Amino acid sequence: MRIDNIQIKQLIEKHGSPIYLYDKNQIIENIDTIKNISNNPNLAINYAVKANSNLNILKLIKEHGMKVDSTGYGEYIINRNAGFSDEDIYVVCNNLTKQELLLLANQNIRISADCIDQLKTLNEVAPGYQNVMLRVNPTFGAGENESIITGGDKHKFGIDIDDLMPCINYIKENNMKLVGINQHIGSLNLDYKTIVLAVTSLIDLINANNIIVDFINFGGGFGINYNHDTNNQLDFTSLRAELDVIFTDFLNTYPNKEVTLEFEPGRYIVANASILIGTVTSIKRRGNDIYIGTDLGFSQLARPTMYNSHHHISFITDNELRRECHVVGNMCENGDYLCKNRKLVIPDIGDLVIVHDTGAYGYSMASNFNNRLRPIEIMIDDQQHEVIRRRETIEDLLNSYK
Ligand code: PLP
Repeated sequence: MRIDNIQIKQLIEKHGSPIYLYDKNQIIENIDTIKNISNNPNLAINYAVKANSNLNILKLIKEHGMKVDSTGYGEYIINRNAGFSDEDIYVVCNNLTKQELLLLANQNIRISADCIDQLKTLNEVAPGYQNVMLRVNPTFGAGENESIITGGDKHKFGIDIDDLMPCINYIKENNMKLVGINQHIGSLNLDYKTIVLAVTSLIDLINANNIIVDFINFGGGFGINYNHDTNNQLDFTSLRAELDVIFTDFLNTYPNKEVTLEFEPGRYIVANASILIGTVTSIKRRGNDIYIGTDLGFSQLARPTMYNSHHHISFITDNELRRECHVVGNMCENGDYLCKNRKLVIPDIGDLVIVHDTGAYGYSMASNFNNRLRPIEIMIDDQQHEVIRRRETIEDLLNSYK
């Protein structure tokens, strides 16, 4: 983050606690890295909006030439408001209702069906739909933990390989049009070979079944290093070298030379471009345990509680004494913690706590549990800062009852 502790304290004094703070230049740098993942001219990158759907961040992503991958009508609307056209938006649906599928089909955007039932519902609400993708489940998945692995026979997503041809036949019989095949094997992959394996397995499947489409989408899943004690980074140089060869070989034999080869990263674009700043509210000693209480409950950042995810944590404090401790939030739930048994400097009440790498699945998973208000979001751009979403208010909480 291109900001020092004095500026962070000033932001908290001015805007209150907690704050999601974003670094615009870091997002731009991440976009550039991903856009260069292959030199192949058929490459295109969609941003997976679920990672962070702040309207201003979407506008920035649009300005930098990316398209978007969405989960449903809400994300479609926010994308349109950010300036994306219908051609730029693609929806990977998972258990959408008839009503939601109809709203999306009315826009004639690319819609990816995740099973035969969703395909049939799509055909019911929009007979002969001409912009259909099929999401396959490639029999294996990969990712940091079970909850974010999405491929393989123990996971709910995608069409089994054996069911792919029946789906394609259904499309033909009903005069629908298959424009693409997609997959997403899981999230937070740091080994480039996993991504290569995902790409080759989808290409093999397409070749083996002579599937001719306009779009092949290999999913997202590019990991970042959340643990600052290690240097576990994705090796983009090796990944690029392998993808260039794989894509060139594939296009040499594939009948549709214009086919677009897509990835849809979410996390990589925004994760390391944000910190979540909060305030230390108590230091409780119980036996050998030290609980550092903060105003950062899982209504602000769900990942540690939800996935047991690691985030680097630091304090703005004058203290130096380090002890093993637990950092906890302000939710009325025992599972509400930011880290357990970690050796950290023990701060004082009123010091600031910083949770690092919170740009992805941070604010977008925030909630009103315990009727807490969602935090303010601020973007820094060199020395300037701009509020990109105001803090929620008590009136916001009451509004839906009116
Ligand atoms: N595409 C699909 C279909 C997904 O489900 C997800 C994440 O859940 C992504 C892309 C983005 O994954 P990541 O943020 O790991 O890049």
